Amino acid sequence: MPEIPELEAIRGFFDEQLTGRRIEACTVRIPVVFRTPASEFRQTLPGDAFAAFRRHGKFLLLQLQSARVIAVNPMLTGRFQYIDPAAKMPAKTCLVLAIEGGRALRYADDRLMGKLYLLPADRLESIPGWAENGPDLLDPALTEDVWLARIAKYRGGIKNILVNAAFVQGIGNAYSDEILWEARINPYTPRTKLTTDDLRRLYRCAHAVMAWATPLARAAMVKQDTLDYEERRDFLRVHRRGGQPCPRCGTPISEITANQRVTSFCRQCQPELPA
Ligand SMILES: [Zn+2]
Repeated sequence: MPEIPELEAIRGFFDEQLTGRRIEACTVRIPVVFRTPASEFRQTLPGDAFAAFRRHGKFLLLQLQSARVIAVNPMLTGRFQYIDPAAKMPAKTCLVLAIEGGRALRYADDRLMGKLYLLPADRLESIPGWAENGPDLLDPALTEDVWLARIAKYRGGIKNILVNAAFVQGIGNAYSDEILWEARINPYTPRTKLTTDDLRRLYRCAHAVMAWATPLARAAMVKQDTLDYEERRDFLRVHRRGGQPCPRCGTPISEITANQRVTSFCRQCQPELPA
């Protein structure tokens, strides 16, 4: 599932490669992911052009010169390609845009759980859940003090809070493990047991992990002017590294699977707090 580093890497790439470019043709291949009628994509995108690229939580926002936005939430398996149109097309390619200059922008989604919207730029609030969700982690308004005030309203295990979009958006299962490892906090610690210092450190580690991972995600996804990738995160230090040595202390990483979610952590660096 793409999280902030992957989406920021794609956003930066689109910024460089697609800003100002015209959409010459639009082909809808699998309509199920479209939350705005696919016919609207097909009929109204050709002739429009990309104006800017933004990210909000796990949404990538492709802003058009017509003051509309293509909003994409890739969910678990959605991915983009910006590629030679002759390149082999993934089986579950949902959308293909022919772009001025000769390349194709594709959206493919193996599990077809992603969501694509085409909306006026001032109507993003009409996306289900948009208004209820908390701030993006990288929103400058989410200062360390705001983070502290917000997190005080949540109980339960700290990892569950980090991945809760109502608290903060953009952190998922993989990077929550990385952040907690960086902060040396056990993922199952109840928030109520953490000190103010712990919660401040968590904020700083969340930002540090995103800044560290974004260029690495980009290197894994982008080759020069081509975006084409399978989700590959072999740079992560703890997530899905069960049994391998902790890069900090050498203790084998522990891995626990519950509700189809893998949690990886180091029992030495991230000890359980005494009851
Ligand atoms: Zn360790």
